[in-house]
Amino acid sequence: MKLACEILYILSAICFIVGLKGLSNPKTARRGNLFSAVGMGIAIVTSLLYPIELASGKMISPVNFAANNYFWILGGLMIGSLIGWQRAVKVEMTAMPQLVSIFNGFGGLSAMLLGILEALKFDNETTILQSIIVFSAMVIGAISFSGSVLAYLKLDGKVKDKHVMLPAHNIINLLLLALTIGSVVFAIMNPSTLSIAIAAVLALVYGFSFVAPIGGADMPVVISLLNSVTGISAAVAGYLYDNQIMILGGILVGASGTILTLLMCRAMNRSILNVVAGGFGSAAVGAGVGAAAGGDEDRTIQEASPIDIAILLNYANQVIMVPGYGMAVAQAQKQAKELDTLLTEKGVEVFYGIHPVAGRMPGHMNVLLAEVDISYDKLLDLDDCNSRLTDTDIVLIIGANDVVNPSALDDPSSNIYGMPILEVWNAKQTVVFKRSMKPGYAGIQNPLFFHDNNKMLFGDAKDSLGKIIDELKTL
Ligand code: NDP
Repeated sequence: MKLACEILYILSAICFIVGLKGLSNPKTARRGNLFSAVGMGIAIVTSLLYPIELASGKMISPVNFAANNYFWILGGLMIGSLIGWQRAVKVEMTAMPQLVSIFNGFGGLSAMLLGILEALKFDNETTILQSIIVFSAMVIGAISFSGSVLAYLKLDGKVKDKHVMLPAHNIINLLLLALTIGSVVFAIMNPSTLSIAIAAVLALVYGFSFVAPIGGADMPVVISLLNSVTGISAAVAGYLYDNQIMILGGILVGASGTILTLLMCRAMNRSILNVVAGGFGSAAVGAGVGAAAGGDEDRTIQEASPIDIAILLNYANQVIMVPGYGMAVAQAQKQAKELDTLLTEKGVEVFYGIHPVAGRMPGHMNVLLAEVDISYDKLLDLDDCNSRLTDTDIVLIIGANDVVNPSALDDPSSNIYGMPILEVWNAKQTVVFKRSMKPGYAGIQNPLFFHDNNKMLFGDAKDSLGKIIDELKTL
């Protein structure tokens, strides 16, 4: 039985790795997700069947050992699966980061609870190493749980950055971290219900406080970071139970979360320390939404109508669409595809410029465009897109803002200075689809709007594209 279980563990490990590999490409992402889910299913069932070794060295079936627990385990699995399924089916693509954050938080909560339960079993025979492992799972899980809950509340707009930030917050965080570590050392030396509870509460407070000063465009990065932290806590918990697949799964989550965090930081030209220290554009985000940044009163924009844009498109040879968060809000991907088909029929070459952090999570735009079967061959990454722009007649910037902001290149005082961006102004003409002059997520004004070769088409992106399609059909 033990050998069969170990073979099944290897099988589920293979599914995890093949699944992760699949997730790295839009063409194979769906299959990759399915592989990973099957791997997780095999891992859970195998863990429930894995023979238990008694103190005498005798192996017995877990069914005989703890038949009563199966009621609770299967009951928990069913309730959790139903809630997870229901939330995942209902969630809007724009609310995906919140969902990831709260799901991740529950992973941390389970690691914390496992740690507490094991710590309560400490006796004279518990070694220091065992105590360290148990408390590591508990503390890392607690930080990940409370941090993820606050990240969820912030992203969902239920808590504003300024409501949870204190003066000299980074110093408070360092003090809290020191207190948490001190309480863990004390609990290891003097294990009791009270000392364990104090360590758990301090870790929860630290997790909350750790996320408190972070805001604005840094939130998705923090979610990815917390995700990797949860992976580490799961791996530690796996070590606790000598469960190889839990260790491996945790390490994979920890490693992939860390890689994703670093890639996101690189795409935004920010260091991880800079993100964790917090305060990204807090002044701009707080004040900016709803108002154009100062100093632009004397600059003029060129407003266009759908018919103007339809006429321009009718005479174009090459068009690039740059989707952003606003396209996800408007759910305009179907209209983008319809316009693409219409233009292609007229002999126009159509591509899509995809910025790595367009939208609110990596791959956000790829998912939207895949939903409407836009060919992957038409998707250009940042470098490919930038190298094509000089030969492009029109760039349609559909609900994107920060990812086409020239301040990233030429304004050292800007929040996003240094972030690689799509240099759309190198095309002959740009058209920005948005509803107002409000800034994007980073909370800063976009000088592109005032360029001579830019036109603004105000309105919901889905309506605007629909009107352009109607006009184009009559030309
Ligand atoms: P932005 O948030 O910069 O801009 C979105 C624009 O869409 C806004 O200017 C808004 O203007 C417009 N918009 C919103 N709703 C609609 C609608 N219904 N119709 C038309 N326009 C609409 O988006 P980007 O995609 O350009 O940039 C993403 C931002 O998120 C960057 O700052 C990035 O750093 C950040 N980020 C992304 C991560 C990722 O992984 N993707 C991770 C971390 C951060 P208006 O309200 O006037 O309509």
